[in-house]
Amino acid sequence: MKLYPHARLIPAVIAAATAVGVSPAPASAADQPERRVQVAMVNFTDSSVPDPGKLESALKKSYFGATGSLTSYYNEVTGGATTFAAAEGDGVTGPVDIDLAAAGCDTGKINELTRKALAQRGIAESDYDHLSLVYPAEKAGCDWLALGTVGGGTTWMPVGSDGEMSMTALVHEFGHNFGYSHHMRLRCPEGDLGAGCEEDGTSHKTPMGGGGWEAGLTSPELLHNKWLTGDEVVEVAKSGTYDLRPLYGSGDGARARALDIPLGDDRLVVELRHESGTLDGEIQGVHAYRVPKGDYAKSALVDPTPDADESTGGDAAADADALKTGAKLTDSARDVEVKVVRAGAGSARVAVSLAGVAAPDARPAKPAGSSAPRSANDARPEGGSAELAETGADSGTSVPAALGGGLLLAVGAAFLLKSRRRTATSSGRPSSGRPSSGRRSSGRRSR
Ligand SMILES: [Zn+2]
Repeated sequence: MKLYPHARLIPAVIAAATAVGVSPAPASAADQPERRVQVAMVNFTDSSVPDPGKLESALKKSYFGATGSLTSYYNEVTGGATTFAAAEGDGVTGPVDIDLAAAGCDTGKINELTRKALAQRGIAESDYDHLSLVYPAEKAGCDWLALGTVGGGTTWMPVGSDGEMSMTALVHEFGHNFGYSHHMRLRCPEGDLGAGCEEDGTSHKTPMGGGGWEAGLTSPELLHNKWLTGDEVVEVAKSGTYDLRPLYGSGDGARARALDIPLGDDRLVVELRHESGTLDGEIQGVHAYRVPKGDYAKSALVDPTPDADESTGGDAAADADALKTGAKLTDSARDVEVKVVRAGAGSARVAVSLAGVAAPDARPAKPAGSSAPRSANDARPEGGSAELAETGADSGTSVPAALGGGLLLAVGAAFLLKSRRRTATSSGRPSSGRPSSGRRSSGRRSR
């Protein structure tokens, strides 16, 4: 796996921890169409946030700005299915002083004492769905860049002396709040789903998998929170040929944004990605995701290319790991075949064969079962801890303490850094193997 370190992010580690008392998980996003976000600036007894006035104004912009903010990101990604907004007031409060020294980075205490301090100021827990704790990184010694509860509503965002915050980290931690695991890549040479797929780094298709916050969420992630509904998703129940529009954007007129295909006990979700609005400028083409046991929060990209240099090298094209026209994914044991009939920028046509029945190549079928997508609603992916801890171990960093309570996930460099940058041309120049400069075509991450 290639990493292209960004100086500011190098200290970040990946960790998974079961940790201290966190608030109960909020309801599934679709069940609660408005999400109120409260940001609290926090001072320790021996360490204070730098320049609170300046920080407050930066936080308002990062969290609630009309464009280029946390809430504008999620409003765009969910297409308005869920509305994200500042909690009562302007959403940013503090600094509040808590009776705790910074050293030791006691996440449970920081959370507990801040909630109490907020209550004393008249901001009750019932006034917000998400609480983001912003405190000085200096002296706290947290060995991660940022932390979020999986399926809960708390994020910990230490800031340095410059008050800077990584927008990708912020969007990523809220992704954990919405129940998402880290998003990985399965390398399945020749598109053979039956055996031999191996995990190989992150997917680069979502902020949860190293895609940066320029990426939208994947279709399985949207399905998990019921952000794809009605005829936006086709639950494939029989062999057929289906048209897709891009996951984001209107495309050429097809309605479906994702195909949800049975694969034994698992599911296979197929989507078309294309740049739209501020999303997916570096992602293009038809992609498929394996959903283990129907848990959409834990899907992984199916990459049919044989090796990493080809699909994830620093100069790889935006569609290097996409399923091109004519490409097939097959699972002979389960008699499933998915073939890309045509992959364009504005639409794609995909033939699905189930139980060995050839897909009719006539007109595309109407969306089959247009019922609401099966969703894990607010299920907490408890099982994620083991695999993520393993990922953490892989980075050679410290492993988390188990303190009981909710699952916490820290974000690490591997899940923030993009290992691909958009190439100026798509001439297929082979990857040199040199680290990418990390430059990007868009300035969205800058503040
Ligand atoms: Zn994470």
